[in-house]
Amino acid sequence: MGSQLSSARARVKRAFDLIDFNPELQQELAYPMETLSLNLPTRMDDGSRRDFKAWRCRYNSTLGPTKGGIRFHDTVTADEVQTLALLMTLKCALVRLPFGGAKGGVCVDAKQLSIAEKERIAREYVRRAVSFIGPDKDIPAPDVATGEQEMAWMVDEYGRLSQQQRPDTFTGKPIALGGSFGRTAATGKGGFIALQQLLEYLGDLGESDALRLAVQGFGNAGRHFVEAAVAAGHQLVAVADSQVTISDKDGLDFEKLSKVKTEQGSLAAVEGYQSDDASAVLTADCDVLVLAALGDVINADNADQLNCRAIVELANGPIVPAVDEMLIDNGIEVIPDILANAGGVIVSHAEWCQSRVGLRWSESRVDSYLIDTLEDAGERVLSRAREHDIDLRTAAIAEALSHLCAGLVAHGTEEDYISQG
Ligand code: NAD
Repeated sequence: MGSQLSSARARVKRAFDLIDFNPELQQELAYPMETLSLNLPTRMDDGSRRDFKAWRCRYNSTLGPTKGGIRFHDTVTADEVQTLALLMTLKCALVRLPFGGAKGGVCVDAKQLSIAEKERIAREYVRRAVSFIGPDKDIPAPDVATGEQEMAWMVDEYGRLSQQQRPDTFTGKPIALGGSFGRTAATGKGGFIALQQLLEYLGDLGESDALRLAVQGFGNAGRHFVEAAVAAGHQLVAVADSQVTISDKDGLDFEKLSKVKTEQGSLAAVEGYQSDDASAVLTADCDVLVLAALGDVINADNADQLNCRAIVELANGPIVPAVDEMLIDNGIEVIPDILANAGGVIVSHAEWCQSRVGLRWSESRVDSYLIDTLEDAGERVLSRAREHDIDLRTAAIAEALSHLCAGLVAHGTEEDYISQG
């Protein structure tokens, strides 16, 4: 089996092959600019020492300081972190933010940690990566199993080490520490904005205007997507977290599920609906399948068993590249991750701007920025898909490459701009 990074690069190559880009860009994106490998020695609550592997990759900084989340998960590898950093490079370019792409991760099962252990790991990560990150260099954010609290610990640790208050070093912070209104909901909300914008292009998805949705993942991204979709009159017919799938063809009660998930931490505690194993959501009968958990969940084992007409990739890389053609042949349209989940980084950019100048934007200003930026990218993806008669993913990557290409050329060749850092 090849690496995740080489599979992701194959998708990029497809866009390169279709459209005539500057070949130097292909060289520029062939390998990550730099990857930091870390060991995080951690004192556990029982007094024992454990060592966790961790990484931070800055894939490319052509367009600006690098940006990307830090995840805590026990499947994290250097290959995954580098692949996700490439995706961030493309995503920031697609939505035309002044950011390059990065990603970080700690190989740890966050569910097994106490709050104090999580804090020690978060602070140790910053101590070890302090020279790699910074407000004009690399700006981390939350990702799987990290959120406002982890960002608060991290920004605090960075402040201690640098002896400066630098809230612009991290985004996704609590409001009290310079976080932005709208950041928590931005990824899910943005995914729904993208779906709404592309509905006409996607064609007939279901029998009625109310779409039947199946959603894998009921965390930050998944839950806010469902909230926006249900508010707009669509129906949630199946949803899964890491333990269970809950389904009801007549529609699930979002408020009830949300309350149980918040109070008890798992959908397994919800009563009154048909429940099944966590992976059952992937083959649920629905109009739109929303992937909002982890990578590689649609693969050669299940790609021909899907019962949906379209997929929204809220998670990063939830479909393995090897099944792209099969989905196209089966008439399943995919709204790709670099567009569908770009809401998070768009509002992170808004937060970074606010933290740099010490201002707070109103919720409506943040919302307008999110909608305008995302819809502008959606328009460009649509027109490229129509112009070249290509799928939405290839169109989105091509659109990102075109902006990166302009950046690369603008840096000039006289002084040979090559990874200034
Ligand atoms: P999260 O930790 O808040 O939620 C993840 C959810 O996935 C949880 O409900 C968990 O139970 C569920 N899950 C885990 N394994 C599962 C499995 N095998 N089957 C079903 N459900 C499973 O994380 P999040 O922030 O919502 O991120 C989810 C995805 O969205 C990730 O791929 C992340 O990279 C991507 N994303 C998040 C953001 C953001 O702003 N949070 C931005 C861009 C992309």
